[in-house]
Amino acid sequence: MKIKLTKGAIENPLIRQLERVSGEELKRCYQCGKCSAGCPVTFAMEIPPSQIMRFLQIGMMDDVMKANSMWVCVGCLQCYARCPQSVSVANVLEGLRQLHLRKGEDREQIKDVPFPFLKNAPQQAIVCGFRKFVS
Ligand code: SF4
Ligand code: SF4
Repeated sequence: MKIKLTKGAIENPLIRQLERVSGEELKRCYQCGKCSAGCPVTFAMEIPPSQIMRFLQIGMMDDVMKANSMWVCVGCLQCYARCPQSVSVANVLEGLRQLHLRKGEDREQIKDVPFPFLKNAPQQAIVCGFRKFVS
């Protein structure tokens, strides 16, 4: 089953680019809500996973780019495991992060990370954090 994208979504070059970067077909999502129900960090997201999909289907890319959801996602893939349409919202959120970071706009400045944290955090956590938040 596929949903029709609105004209605004079809004509939005950023949404077309997001589909290419993420490898996900936005119209496959039929809004069952299972991704949002299973996501462990929905409570902290300004727009939950299923609503991210709907916003994109109707062309509301600006709202999605402004929301914190892509940064809050921990990449656990619970959304993908639960989706009856085999859509990975995790891939979509990673695609959104890529579009953001490719503009050279870092989410976090390395200089702002407290030194005690850098000194004590596991190296893997630091590298993963920089890969996620820094262009
Ligand atoms: S991958 Fe991200 S969006 Fe999907 S369930 Fe995990 S935290 Fe939520
Ligand atoms: S689980 Fe899949 S089909 Fe259901 S709302 Fe989430 S992305 Fe859409």
